[in-house]
Amino acid sequence: MGILDRTLSTISRGELITPYIEQAVMMADWPPEYPVKVYNKERIWDGYFHPSSDAYSGDLLLYCKFHPELQKGMLKEVISPSLAMTFQVGSALHAIIQSMLIHLGFTTEEEVEVSYVNEERHTSGTTDIRKLTLPNGKVVMVDIKTCSKLPTSVRANYKTQIRIYQDNVPDAPDDMVILYIEKAHPHGIRDFVVDKDQEELNGIYAKWNRIIEAVEFNDTSSLTPCCAGPEDKKFDVCLARNVCPLWNH
Ligand code: SF4
Repeated sequence: MGILDRTLSTISRGELITPYIEQAVMMADWPPEYPVKVYNKERIWDGYFHPSSDAYSGDLLLYCKFHPELQKGMLKEVISPSLAMTFQVGSALHAIIQSMLIHLGFTTEEEVEVSYVNEERHTSGTTDIRKLTLPNGKVVMVDIKTCSKLPTSVRANYKTQIRIYQDNVPDAPDDMVILYIEKAHPHGIRDFVVDKDQEELNGIYAKWNRIIEAVEFNDTSSLTPCCAGPEDKKFDVCLARNVCPLWNH
């Protein structure tokens, strides 16, 4: 693929920010060095619902995770060397892209890794880039995803994740984009615009409220089972299978 073909194909696919990034990367006056700051804090649980892990999780699993007694008996996720490396390489690539975009003038350090806590909705999170400003003045929120091969569409849970950030991060712009970066050569870039969906978010906030109330009153009657019991494959991999009140009487 020629130098410009790559950028032209991002334009023909109607991408919002990738054509600007590709041009800027090519024209940039790269300094002898620039800092890259790697963040790992999202993996430390703080007692709030998180857009990345808890929007699609089943009711009973969230109940066990948030129940002060049951959570102690939950199984721990096994972090294999491969998984640990995946986390670290993913975090490092996020940091490289964030630092590049700061250096190229699309954003600033203050707009990177912006956190929120919303007590009313029991949620917290950290967005990759709150505000990225394009040369035409358009401002968008950006969530970065690293991948082995550029996708042709965005996963639904990724759209939901950035919608929750946009709805809770203070001073967030209305427009949202998921930016995919290929980990291997040729390090392709592709972005997808995400529309708002307040109805979807209201359903998630209502679910999270239901979980908090169920934990408070020790009453699971309003919750929906998220597996069909020990015969179900989901049960076999569930970290709450030893404590789930549905299957442990
Ligand atoms: S055992 Fe089944 S119902 Fe219980 S938390 Fe796990 S997946 Fe959900």
